[in-house]
Amino acid sequence: MVGHKLPTVVALGGGIGGQVVSTRLKQKLGGTAHVALIERSPRFTFAPSLLWLMVGQRKVGTISRDYAALRRRGVEVIQAGVTGVDAEQSKVRTDRGEIGYDYLVIALGAELAPERMAGLAEYAHHPYDLGSAERLRDALARFSGGRVVVAISALPYKCPAAPYETAMLVDGFLRRRGLGGASQVEVYTPEPLPLPVAGAYPGYSVAAELAARSIGFHPRTQLERVEEKALVIDGESVPYDLAIVIPPHRPPEALSSTTLAGPGGWIRVDRGTLRTGAENVYALGDATAIPLENGMMLPKAGVFAHGEAEVVAENIARRIRGGVGEAEFDGHGTCFLETGGGKSGLARGDFFASPAPRVAMYRPSRAWHAGKIAFEQYWLRRWL
Ligand SMILES: Cc1cc2nc3c(=O)[nH]c(=O)nc-3n(C[C@H](O)[C@H](O)[C@H](O)COP(=O)(O)OP(=O)(O)OC[C@H]3O[C@@H](n4cnc5c(N)ncnc54)[C@H](O)[C@@H]3O)c2cc1C
Repeated sequence: MVGHKLPTVVALGGGIGGQVVSTRLKQKLGGTAHVALIERSPRFTFAPSLLWLMVGQRKVGTISRDYAALRRRGVEVIQAGVTGVDAEQSKVRTDRGEIGYDYLVIALGAELAPERMAGLAEYAHHPYDLGSAERLRDALARFSGGRVVVAISALPYKCPAAPYETAMLVDGFLRRRGLGGASQVEVYTPEPLPLPVAGAYPGYSVAAELAARSIGFHPRTQLERVEEKALVIDGESVPYDLAIVIPPHRPPEALSSTTLAGPGGWIRVDRGTLRTGAENVYALGDATAIPLENGMMLPKAGVFAHGEAEVVAENIARRIRGGVGEAEFDGHGTCFLETGGGKSGLARGDFFASPAPRVAMYRPSRAWHAGKIAFEQYWLRRWL
């Protein structure tokens, strides 16, 4: 690829952000730019659907795709692992050699780090990647009732709603199987309330949904380790029959020790333009940390990765075409929150609002659930 005469844009990571940015760049620039995407995995899985897979409502084949559609759009998809970025030389290092760029977009997401919580890999389940969600689905199918403990092991984690959706979907699944009376679901989290970044009303709304199902909610608690039959939380032993533990997350290893990384190893960006400190290098999605006016961070969610990718594609296209001005990401986002029983709620807001995000929470309904399915289908058909 080095030596291409056309301007070359390289996107790192073929998840939500990488797919949107590379598709949009090809649409905007056609044959006037070379767009390449580097992704280590041969297949992409639409993460929101993992929760439905967990309760037997989706099959692997319907929520996961290879990168053929992206290739048909003219994006060069390179299957390789990114090992570093040399921003001075405008080169990406991969396990298959170096690749040069004129513009770089980092969309490597957040990595799961189950090894950072003792006992997690041995004794607990989670629905945060395809293989783990399949194992949890099988464990739930075998489960004959008892105590299910859902614990968030560390902050930040992807999709602030997902652990709560997990608890409600598991509760509904057990009730449908006639195990409701013999089971009890409990949620433990270091957060003061669900979705704390969104403010009190959305948080109390979710807590009320948990209470309506008699799901126990234990905020401001810290998981210390997972043992064979109990979680150790704040020094106390909390017994379980099935443990679902959201693993710790870490920034992309390839970049966490570079000058692009800020506190905690997450990539530092301008929240409007998504430019990093390095020339012609942008970063977006879960790999970044974007501080908000209330001192918290923009949640790690696909809706934001998508919105940021639209802005980055527009700005790179303008620069290649010699256009003026820059588009800015405005911090708006919408997220469905599955509550089980064929219903979803909806959170929608302006996360860049001052002095704190302004987020409206809409009560669970069948209409929002239909909206969540329509959104899934839009993603699986439009982008993959
Ligand atoms: C169970 C679950 C439910 C969710 N539900 C929702 C929801 O309802 N709504 C919502 O908005 N968000 C949801 N999310 C969050 C959403 O999936 C992520 O926020 C989103 O995918 C982030 O996009 P991204 O492009 O930043 O990263 P990702 O989509 O994670 O993509 C990163 C890509 O980079 C690749 N990669 C990483 N490191 C390397 C490397 N070294 N070399 C090569 N490739 C690499 C990875 O394989 C991956 O394909 C959910 C997440 C989970 C786990």
